[in-house]
Amino acid sequence: MNTFASESGDGKDFVSHAPGYWSDTVPELWNDWKWQLKNRVTTLAQLEKHLELSAEERSGVLLSGDKLALAVTPHFFNLLPANNPDDPIRRQVVPRIEETWTSPYDMADPCGEDSHMPVPGLVHRYPDRVLFLVTDRCASYCRYCTRSRVVSGVGEQELHTNFEAAFRYLEAHTEVRDVLLSGGDALIFSDDRLEKLLSRLRAIRHIEFLRIGTRVPIFLPQRITPELCAMLAKYHPLWMSVHVNHPRELTIEVKHALERLANAGIPLGNQSVLLAGVNDDVETMKTLVHKLLMCRVRPYYIYQCDLINGSSHLRTSVAKGIEIIEGLRGHTTGYAVPQFVIDAPGGGGKVPINPGYILYHDNEKIVIRNYEGKIFEYPETGNENLQFAPQREYHDEYLYS
Ligand SMILES: *Cc1c(COP(=O)(O)O)cnc(C)c1O
Ligand code: SF4
Repeated sequence: MNTFASESGDGKDFVSHAPGYWSDTVPELWNDWKWQLKNRVTTLAQLEKHLELSAEERSGVLLSGDKLALAVTPHFFNLLPANNPDDPIRRQVVPRIEETWTSPYDMADPCGEDSHMPVPGLVHRYPDRVLFLVTDRCASYCRYCTRSRVVSGVGEQELHTNFEAAFRYLEAHTEVRDVLLSGGDALIFSDDRLEKLLSRLRAIRHIEFLRIGTRVPIFLPQRITPELCAMLAKYHPLWMSVHVNHPRELTIEVKHALERLANAGIPLGNQSVLLAGVNDDVETMKTLVHKLLMCRVRPYYIYQCDLINGSSHLRTSVAKGIEIIEGLRGHTTGYAVPQFVIDAPGGGGKVPINPGYILYHDNEKIVIRNYEGKIFEYPETGNENLQFAPQREYHDEYLYS
C-alpha cells in the first residue's frame, strides 16, 4: 500500500509513504541511505516547502536552532501530514516555540551523566555495564532528546569522546560485562568504522554482551543493509534497542529493516518515551506494542520523559504511564508489556514504576490484586527470620516524615 501520511488513519497497518513529498526521486536514490542523509530537511525554507507551519512551529524553528539542530530524513518526513501541527509524528521532530520556555524542573543533564563519566564519553553508573557515547550525530533529531546538551553539535556542550582512554578504562575494569553503544546514534557510522569499534570491544575478554541503542532503523531503514547485518552478526551476542514512540513510525520499510536485523540473529527491544500528544493513551500504546511484536521487537522500556530543558510541553504525568501499564498487563500478551521507568533525576538510574498490585505484605501473607481488580492472598512462609520491610511501611515513613 502506498499512501500519504494524512490518509494513514490510526496507524494499525504497515504502510509505505515513499516517495511521498519526493515524487521526482528515483528508487535507486531513495533507497540509498547516504542520499537520505544528504537530503535531510534541515531548514525553515525546506520545511515550508511541504508543510503549512503553525506560528508555534515557525518561531520554534527560528529560535531553537542553538539548542538542538533540525534534521529529518526524507523517509521519516513523509510521515508528517502537511496541515496538522498537532500530529503525533510532527510533534517529535518539528521544533516548537515551547522549546525555548523554561520550567522550574528543567535540567541540561537530567540523568546526571556528566558526573558519572570516568572518561569523556563513557558513563559508568551501574556496577557491571557502561553506556558508551560514540557520536553526537543522529539520522534525525528528536525534540525531547535527553542528551540534547551534546547531541547534534549545536547545543551548550560538545561531546569529546576519548576512544583510547575509554578502551583502556574498559580493559582495566574487569567488572564491566556489558557495553551499550549510544550517543547520538552509532549506526550513523560507516560499516568499517563501526566494525573497528565492535572488534576492539570484542578483543576485551570480560566484555560478554554488546548492545546498540539506535533510532536508525526507524529514521533511516535504508541503512540496515544486508552488508551491515552480516557485519553485525560477527560480533554476537549483540542486541539492539530501537526507539519507536507511535505505531505510524512502523512503516513497511521499517518492518523489513527490523526483520533483516532479526534474521541476523540480533534480539530486538524497543524503548519508547511517554510524550504528551504523541503516545499518552492506552489505545495508541496497545497498537504500538502489537505492531512491535509483529516486527519481532520486544517492548523493553517506556520512559517517563526526562526533565530535559524545553520539554515541558511534551511531558505527561507519571500517573499516565502507570495507567498505560495497567491497561496492558493482563489485557494483552505478556511479551508486549514494557517496563515503565523513571530515570531518576540527578543520576539515580532507571527506577521501575508499577501499578500497585501489592495491597498488603507482612511476614505471614501477601495480598495482591490482578488486572481485573480481583483480590488474592498468598501465604508468606518458609523463612522465619525473613528480614524485610513491608512495602506499606516505606510509604508510611515517606509520607509522614
Ligand atoms: C540505561 C542505561 C544503561 C542500561 O540499562 P539497562 O537497564 O541495563 O538497559 C546503562 N548505563 C546507563 C548510564 C544508562 O542510562
Ligand atoms: S535518536 Fe536518540 S540520541 Fe538521537 S536525537 Fe533522538 S533521542 Fe536523541
